[in-house]
Order: sequence, then structure tokens, then C-alpha cells
Amino acid sequence: MKFKNFPMVPRVIFGRGCFNQLEEILMPRRINSEAPFIFLVDDVFETNPDFVAKIPLLFGDKIIFIPTDEEPKTDQVDVLVSKIREYTTESPSGIVGIGGGTVMDLAKAVAIMLTSNGKAEEYQGWDLVTCEAIYHVGIPTISGTGAEVSRTTVLTGPEKKLGINSDFTPFDQVILDPELTNGVPRDQWFYTGMDCYIHCVESLNGTYLNAFSQSYGEKAEDLCDEVFYNGKLSKEETQDKLMMASWHGGMSIAYSQVGVAHAMSYGLSYLLGTKHGLGNCIVFNHLEEFYPEGVAKFKKMKERHNIELPKGLCSNLSEQDFETMINVSMGMDPLWENAVGKNWKDTITRVKLRNLYEKM
Ligand code: NAD
Ligand code: ZN
Repeated sequence: MKFKNFPMVPRVIFGRGCFNQLEEILMPRRINSEAPFIFLVDDVFETNPDFVAKIPLLFGDKIIFIPTDEEPKTDQVDVLVSKIREYTTESPSGIVGIGGGTVMDLAKAVAIMLTSNGKAEEYQGWDLVTCEAIYHVGIPTISGTGAEVSRTTVLTGPEKKLGINSDFTPFDQVILDPELTNGVPRDQWFYTGMDCYIHCVESLNGTYLNAFSQSYGEKAEDLCDEVFYNGKLSKEETQDKLMMASWHGGMSIAYSQVGVAHAMSYGLSYLLGTKHGLGNCIVFNHLEEFYPEGVAKFKKMKERHNIELPKGLCSNLSEQDFETMINVSMGMDPLWENAVGKNWKDTITRVKLRNLYEKM
């Protein structure tokens, strides 16, 4: 048996207001005045001049606002890369992604593709990247996905939804400033936060579990409990703790895998474009059979925060639609193997998945 040798984020700063230190953090990374920093920023901030004013622009630095109603696509990465190449003849000093999982994943992918030939879709998979990415910084503004620590960037391509998993994917620097999560809408806060909770449940109840993953997963689950379940925290404590839960949840799955909710929500996402956090919640709500305690607690948290999940997502789908979703979901071998074990195909049948999807 060979063990994976993981890269980790080498530098991280944490604290309320630490975003103000971005200028001094980037300064030593400026190659020269001709090599700009490119800031990819969630377009929700475009109408927030106070926030935009805090982005430390110098020389030819550029902000590109990113719409987030859809999750990242490989051709979107290619377009951004050619736009940046047109903008600057020098290779940029770095890429800074400011936003949720969508923008952080785009920032990672763009940093990789600026030094790799060809199209982003050619690198979807495991360890296909051979060139070091340019310096890239991740700044989450919503907590839960763990994209700030992970070794992947999840992209939808023409043929598949699959990450660029590589040693060059993790950020060189992460800025954890819980104040940046101030404006997150309540429903979205819950959906993205539950992504973290579901990472914990799937990791802690998986067959791949080991002490490394368990130590991070248990910590993240405790923090999620404090934030969503026991909850006597101030707004500030809630923000601080959820940001750290996301970090630990991401670390937990680095050395294990996610499970049934992710495998099935990839099907929803591929066919219907359902977003990651919401899709996971819709699926997880029906997974008592796999995760009885986790789902029971999830339902209580949902009630506590008055969250109504959309219903009837699959009520008007054709036979072909169901086939597509089931194919995508069943293609996620490692997730099923983690969830149910090596012989997962004995119990996870197409009929079973069809019945589950029909409930959603
Ligand atoms: P997101 O980035 O799509 O953002 C969700 C919504 O929240 C958007 O409308 C955005 O504008 C809004 N938002 C974000 N910050 C805000 C703020 N401070 N104030 C107001 N609104 C704000 O959502 P997400 O759940 O963070 O990310 C989902 C994406 O992450 C998916 O594409 C998924 O595939 C990816 N993901 C990646 C990993 C990884 O390891 N790379 C892990 C899990 C999920
Ligand atoms: Zn997830």
C-alpha cells in the first residue's frame, strides 16, 4: 500500500479584519510593476464600493467580477485565461480569488491554466497537471465548502463534472477573515454550511476513515453543532467558528472521501444545474438509511433555522433524465466505495437510486 503525500496550504492568516493586511501580504510577491495581480471577485461585491475600495490595487492590477449563478465551467476558465493573457504580456504576479467555492475554484483553475498548455477540460482528473501554477490566494466570503484548503477545483466540462486534482491546485496563501461573510443570505448560509456538515458525516461514517480524517472531521462536526444545533453563540462567534469548521471539514476529506449525498447531488447538478450546497441538502434529507444520526440532526437544524427545501425537483423528468442522473452518480466509484464498502455494487442498484431520486 502506498500512502498519499499531500501538499497543504503553506500560509494562512486568520482574524476579523485581517483582509486589511492583503496589501502587505501581496507586496513581496509582486514580480515587477508590469506583472499585475488579477483579482477574481464574486459579483455580489460589485455594488459594494466600500469593499471594492479595500482591494489593494497597484500598477496594472485588475479586478474581474465573476457571476455566481452557475458553478464553474471549463470553458469559462479558458475564456478567463485568454482574457488575462490579452490584458498582460507578462505573466501575472498572482491570482486572488475572493468569494465562495465558485470563485475560489475558478481562481485555482485559472492559476493552473496560465502555466499549462491546452484547455482546462484536458486536466480534469487526478494528477494530470505537470507545471507549477502561478501564485494564487484564496479568500472565502462564505463558509462551508472547504475549497480554501482542498487539492481540487471542481469544474463542469463538456463531458463530465470533475475536479482538477493536483499538487499544484492548493492555494499558496489563504486569508480567513470572518467579517467578509457579513452579507451572506440566510438560506445560502445554511446550504453552504451544511456542505461542511455533510462532509463530516460522510467522512466519519465512511469505510476510508482513518485517524487523520477523524481528527479533523470530529472537530469540524463539533463546530457545526455549536453553530447550527446548540447555538448560543454571538454573530461573531458563529462566523468565526463556521469558517474554521469549513477548514477542518475540508482537511477531513483530503485523506478520505465524501459519500452518498455527494454522489447523488452530482447527478442533480449535472442534469438540472442544482448548486452544490442546496443539492447536497436536498439529497441528504432522504438518506436516513445510510446516515441515520446525521440525517436526524440535519432535520432538526433545518427546522431550527426555518429552512424550506425545494420539493418535486424530479417530478417531471423523463426516463432519459433519470438514466443520465443515475449514470453520473454511479460513476463516482470512490464515493460509493467509501460510503458502503468495496462491494457497493451489490446494494447500490439503479432501481434504488431511481427510487431515491423520485422522492426529491
Ligand atoms: P458560491 O460560491 O456559489 O456562492 C453562493 C452564493 O453566495 C452566491 O450567490 C454568492 O454571490 C453569494 N455570496 C458569497 N459570499 C457572499 C457574501 N459575503 N455576501 C453576500 N453573498 C455572498 O457557493 P459555495 O457553496 O461557497 O460554493 C459552491 C461551489 O463550490 C460549487 O461550484 C462546488 O462545486 C464547489 N466546491 C468546491 C470544493 C473544493 O474542494 N474545491 C468543495 C466543495 C464545493
Ligand atoms: Zn461538498
